[in-house]
Amino acid sequence: DGAKAIEKVEGSFEIDLPDAEMGKVCTRFPPEPSGYLHIGHAKAALLNQYFANKYQGRLIVRFDDTNPAKENNEFVESILADLDTLGVKGDVVSYTSDYFPDLLQLAEKLIREGKAYVDDTPREQMRKERMDGIESKCRKQTVEQNLALWKEMIDSTERGLQCCLRGKLDMQAVNKSLRDPVYYRCNPIAHHRVGDKYKVYPTYDFACPYVDSIEGVTHALRSSEYHDRQDQYYRVLQDMGLRKVHVWDFSRLNMTYTLLSKRKLQWFVDNGKVEGWDDPRFPTVRGILRRGLTVEALKQFILSQGASKNLNLMEWDKLWTINKKIVDPVCPRHTAIVKEGRVLFSLKDGPDQAFVRIIPRHKKWEAAGKKATTFTKQIWLEAADAAAVAEGEEVTLMDWGNAVVETVQRDGSGNVVGLEGRLHLEGSVKTTKLKLTWLADFAELVNLALIDLDHLITKKKLEEEDDFISVLNPTTRWEIQALGDANMRNLKRGDIIQLERKGYFICDSPYIRPLKPIALIAIPDGRQRPT
Ligand code: ATP
Ligand code: MG
Ligand code: MG
Repeated sequence: DGAKAIEKVEGSFEIDLPDAEMGKVCTRFPPEPSGYLHIGHAKAALLNQYFANKYQGRLIVRFDDTNPAKENNEFVESILADLDTLGVKGDVVSYTSDYFPDLLQLAEKLIREGKAYVDDTPREQMRKERMDGIESKCRKQTVEQNLALWKEMIDSTERGLQCCLRGKLDMQAVNKSLRDPVYYRCNPIAHHRVGDKYKVYPTYDFACPYVDSIEGVTHALRSSEYHDRQDQYYRVLQDMGLRKVHVWDFSRLNMTYTLLSKRKLQWFVDNGKVEGWDDPRFPTVRGILRRGLTVEALKQFILSQGASKNLNLMEWDKLWTINKKIVDPVCPRHTAIVKEGRVLFSLKDGPDQAFVRIIPRHKKWEAAGKKATTFTKQIWLEAADAAAVAEGEEVTLMDWGNAVVETVQRDGSGNVVGLEGRLHLEGSVKTTKLKLTWLADFAELVNLALIDLDHLITKKKLEEEDDFISVLNPTTRWEIQALGDANMRNLKRGDIIQLERKGYFICDSPYIRPLKPIALIAIPDGRQRPT
């Protein structure tokens, strides 16, 4: 196969598709509208777009909607919206169901040419016969017999419902995908786009090569787990007498501790284990963006995987590290203090009248704008910080200056319940060990809910045969109540900030009223979570 990696450049890669001509390449992204897009689909979509752009060609977004039992319009809409979010724009949007009339005719043509036959072998037996290279008793039926049964299938009669249409390829082939694959099945269920017009639906193996060829696709990218089906794809096209399409493999993306299967994700939704398809613990495009991933980081992550065809298992930390590099230089800084056990620090020479200073929301990035920091005679410290201070110690109050702690008050069990001291603003921040975040003691502070999340499953690499329900993570969400600086009242949903000394957070629900906390979700930053 002609693909070769030439070099890796700044999170992008150089690969050549075989026989690719500038201006003539056409790729396609073919999602089945049976769920929301996940990070694996994002990889496929971004790669297809990458090659279409690289060769100044075209990208088709095609809904592979051949299974009415699993598909619906909600999924079509969400997939289009998510592609838009990813910046993936097809030159056309098409639907395999648009080709149902042609596919039906083509099936009949192949029957007449002796290249397809109707088979009523029960499913399990057929599977076994394909494994063992045993020909079906139906394989030698005449064209007339096949046409009659095909008619029964189209009408989904009792007899028809027992049958399927199979390609007559090669039952002895070493590659088992060539052993007479199924082309059509009865399925008397209404289709989300074409209604109840059809009672038979083509399989992916039959519809995909046809539509690829007819739509002018030059390079059909498929994830490598379908590698064994390449020969079948070429053979089916040949039987159809259609233009050849190059199939080009890329490695399927797997993420640690993660399920990437719409069917399994649907289980979490149906069983109330998550808030919905956009749950921030989900690997869906919506979920990871809600968790605080930037589209830019996702693109860099995917394009940096290069041309490797190995089935790759990627670590989330790698993705979050890329994200942090993008987010850190530009996200505004704010302050939060955990509510539980917080301690007042009285500054004897502190300001009798609260005053406000306007300071940058990010010291090096002007575009982050300004924030108002309020200074009061009494300030809040977090319990852990208060506990770390010794009497007589000079500390630095961030964005203010130094202060000397004179007395530490404790309750009966030794917990620090109050601090007293004086400002020492001329002191050098270089001499202090503790740089403390603090908040003014005044009414404008906002209530925050700091949310931390974990993977939904406890197994790093889930195999196809593993029962995912047996490895569910019992606890995947924690919430801590905190106070935040008043500027956070202006945060909008989706804004990414850094809480000083705590890390990165994304605003999940903004300020509405004083008692309802602003929900902030912790964004992983690529470091191991503390245990
Ligand atoms: P699922 O198992 O989640 O239903 P699927 O492969 O059946 O996935 P499709 O909607 O048919 O889902 O996939 C659309 C495209 O995305 C296909 O080209 C498929 O190869 C690709 N794709 C799906 N999952 C991954 C993945 N984990 N890594 C890379 N590409 C993927
Ligand atoms: Mg599929
Ligand atoms: Mg699948």
